[in-house]
Amino acid sequence: MSHMADAHEQLLDATIQHLEELKARGVRHVSVSPETLAALAKPPLGKSQTPNPKPQMDQAAALPTAVQSAIRNQKSEISAPNAGQETLLALPGETVVSQGPPLDPRAKAAAFAALRERALACVKCPHLASARQNVVFGVGNIDAQLMFVGEAPGADEDEQGEPFVGKAGQLLTRIIQATGLQRADVYIGNILKCRPDTPGQSAGNRKPTADEMATCIPYLHEQIDLIRPKVIVALGATAVEGLLGKTIGITRLRGTWKTYRGIPLMPTYHPAYLLRNQAMSEKRKVWEDMLAVMEKLGLPISLKQRNYFLKG
Ligand code: URA
Repeated sequence: MSHMADAHEQLLDATIQHLEELKARGVRHVSVSPETLAALAKPPLGKSQTPNPKPQMDQAAALPTAVQSAIRNQKSEISAPNAGQETLLALPGETVVSQGPPLDPRAKAAAFAALRERALACVKCPHLASARQNVVFGVGNIDAQLMFVGEAPGADEDEQGEPFVGKAGQLLTRIIQATGLQRADVYIGNILKCRPDTPGQSAGNRKPTADEMATCIPYLHEQIDLIRPKVIVALGATAVEGLLGKTIGITRLRGTWKTYRGIPLMPTYHPAYLLRNQAMSEKRKVWEDMLAVMEKLGLPISLKQRNYFLKG
């Protein structure tokens, strides 16, 4: 057995022993960072594999470090049970997205790239896979504090492989800019990564089915686990339903803070709705929701921004 594989075995044994001890003390759940999961998903360097002669910070090299730090982190988490914000924010039965120490940037980027590759090759919904031009994975800053989640790609997004690039997307970009942020500062994703097919129709979109949403949502969960945004904005009823499982109307939900696995989530109208309903009152509601998001993020709010819809 190679030195690396040996070290891997020892660390696994130590991890198992540590987890057994926690179990004996009544601990039923431990949080594992996506960084660690990414490292664990990599096979150890075994006999048949030649170690990289110039080890960079690749995932094989990251494995023992990640496992070791997982053990260290578990110890410190256990010493202060129920004290963290994570626990306070959790709903019963809800697993909380880790708010622990920041992920190693290179391990995070690697895990995100691996996730993207998996999504791009996904054929779990054969009817969507055969109809699509592109898988629309998501776009933006993977370290973003703010994440927007929409429903599913439309025709423009399917063609370009990027979410929110059509008319509704352009409006979303203007909304983001009105907060003082740029599109590249935030992360934008969708519940579904493929455009819902519309066989026999030359135009128009359809709402994703419950099956399609259930099949695709794990990708979004993993994106959120890695990005760890401080706030999520759910655009429209389907986004809220996909993330929170709530089917209450968006009219009632919008403007009220919810949590997605410990992360504050603001439901608001989908920009496509604002394009269909041009009433100033509806635009104003979305802007009020965005002001609440800005406040939550501690972003500066000018008088002009505060009074945007009060003039005239
Ligand atoms: N509508 C969505 O919900 N998502 C997109 O990416 C585009 C339009």
